[in-house]
Amino acid sequence: MFSRVLVFVLYCVVCIASERQHVCIHGQREEELTLGVRLSPESDHAAKREATDPRPIRFRPYFDDTVTSNSDSNQREMIQEVVPAVLSFFSTVVSVPPTPSPVLLDRSCSGGGYYVPEGGSTVRRCVDQCVSTTCGGIVTIPDDHLKRCVQCNNTSPQSLQCSPGVPSTDGAGVADTDYILYISALPCVEGPTLAFAAACQMESQLDRPIAGYINFCPNNLGETTRDYLFQVAKHELFHALGFSYSLMALWRDSSGDRRTPSDQQIPNTVTTVNYATWDTFSGPKEHTVTVLRTEAVLREGRGSLWLQ
Ligand SMILES: [Zn+2]
Repeated sequence: MFSRVLVFVLYCVVCIASERQHVCIHGQREEELTLGVRLSPESDHAAKREATDPRPIRFRPYFDDTVTSNSDSNQREMIQEVVPAVLSFFSTVVSVPPTPSPVLLDRSCSGGGYYVPEGGSTVRRCVDQCVSTTCGGIVTIPDDHLKRCVQCNNTSPQSLQCSPGVPSTDGAGVADTDYILYISALPCVEGPTLAFAAACQMESQLDRPIAGYINFCPNNLGETTRDYLFQVAKHELFHALGFSYSLMALWRDSSGDRRTPSDQQIPNTVTTVNYATWDTFSGPKEHTVTVLRTEAVLREGRGSLWLQ
């Protein structure tokens, strides 16, 4: 996935950093992420989908109620303008293998614990209760986007007493979509952050994010211009699409195979480079950075005027 995108991510980091206003949180917390979401019962047994036939990614934005309740009319208008513009940009540079329709997401479990039955299951069995939030509780997802779920009410594993959660049927799902982006506006407590984002759910066959969120920080937006918020949202959407250090171990190659045999080692995906004279506002200094080194990045880089 994403030969052109990998180059854009480097550009994007540079352009955001140069403004020196927005501080990105960058990290992907483990509790935000649901791995192994099965897109349909048929996909359990289907051969690995061809990763070599990507199509332009189809986004479905979903604005959370907090965008209306927590932001003023100017902020709301700006968010509602910026998000479609950013998604439109990404759909011209990101291609993915089409996602089987409709997309249905997994419910989270209170306390995070769930049982994985032998042979797997498309229905999640929570140790305690099923809930309709995801991404560590940041986003509340409409029932219509969610699969049903079974809850085992913290009963002993030796005598499990499980019952269907509510509702007890799957939602209709989201048709003709590769990625659902939830947009929220919860106040932020960390520094001058204007927005933060993460991937939330990864499908089981290629470990590709199929849902994520961007949260805009209404208490920090202040006099932010539309153009600047566009750049911030663009940067954050990269994170929502899985461009975070902790997810790089899950990246696949162009054949759909894991790039690394272990989820602890990612030497063929990133490397560290030490710059003796890294330009800063206070003058050059020594600086070590972590950079992408996938085949696509190296190929694009070698063809770039920057490096010739
Ligand atoms: Zn970032």
